[in-house]
Amino acid sequence: MKRRKFVAALGVGAGALAVSACNSKTDSCGPDGASGTGAQNGVMADKKQTYNWKLVTSWPKNLPGLGEAPERLSRIVKEMSDGRLNIKVYGAGEIVPALEVFDAVSSGVSEIGHSGAYYWKGKAPAAQFFTAIPFGLTAQEINGWLHYGGGLELWRELYDDFGLIPMAGGNTGVQMAGWFNKEINSLEDMKGLKMRIPGLGGEVLRKIGGVPVTLPGGELFTALQTGTIDATEWVGPYNDLAFGLYKAAKYYYYPGWHEPGAMLEFIFNKEKFNALPADLQAILTHGCRAVNQDMLDVYTAKNNDALVTLVEEHNVQLRKFPDEVLKELRKVSHEVALGISETSPLTKRIYDSVMKFKGSVVNYHAISEQAYLNARTL
Ligand code: CA
Repeated sequence: MKRRKFVAALGVGAGALAVSACNSKTDSCGPDGASGTGAQNGVMADKKQTYNWKLVTSWPKNLPGLGEAPERLSRIVKEMSDGRLNIKVYGAGEIVPALEVFDAVSSGVSEIGHSGAYYWKGKAPAAQFFTAIPFGLTAQEINGWLHYGGGLELWRELYDDFGLIPMAGGNTGVQMAGWFNKEINSLEDMKGLKMRIPGLGGEVLRKIGGVPVTLPGGELFTALQTGTIDATEWVGPYNDLAFGLYKAAKYYYYPGWHEPGAMLEFIFNKEKFNALPADLQAILTHGCRAVNQDMLDVYTAKNNDALVTLVEEHNVQLRKFPDEVLKELRKVSHEVALGISETSPLTKRIYDSVMKFKGSVVNYHAISEQAYLNARTL
């Protein structure tokens, strides 16, 4: 209380007090309610204190799209906090390897991480539901589920045991199905295929007789070129062009049935986050929300130009998965997700929540988004 009185006496804590009360009582703030941090009360702001935080990522530093998001968060948080919260971004391997981001933030080696939840399926199978469900939600829909459909609360519950607070960290939109060195005309063509495909998509590949591999993005080109893997998915034209994957595979397949709206994550060390002043917590929360939308904007603006470059300058052979292949993949995808949902009561609650939301949003999107996209091509 001494500290509270001191800050109030200085007249600098009013904004922070308002935010703090908002977070503690409702777990949300104003019309943008679901973007509340869900954090505990932050300490009162000492405007002279600066914080120097680390942010570790699963991407090569400054990788287009994925790697731009943490840099953007760092920049806007510095601006909004007037330099009180400085975040230094580290690429994969600079402090910890790409796929150890979760442990690094959980243990406090780093305060923030930027990655994809499906990399942590070995720790919590339900984590995969927060990146992408094959034939599941699009970017627009997963944002709706997370922020206004109960998804983010479930995600926080799942990560709480690990001392982490998750927030949406960007979305790629519908990805590409991947890079292959042979044509895929039936499911038979995917049998025995050793493919880099993480998360639930990988489990679907396993079920139809393929061999899924999880590798960080920075290792894909070499693995594909040397034949360590036969095929790979990554993201979409903007990201895939940057990695030069066209030099190692001939056919570029669509659509990304396995990642229809891949959600990235910012993860915060819970103890460190909760010890921040409330205004800095709010800056991080709303900063993540802005970066989350920004990533989708970047991909929307850049993907087609990159696709034209791939096809016209690098002679990439663009192919669509046959409808029969997609129908069979959809059936197996449903079985895989249902099977994983039965691994724990919380996993079941998460699955039920996302599937209920999907049923509702698909119903309306059939006569809105889908009907419009169809109408536009009549
Ligand atoms: Ca992917």
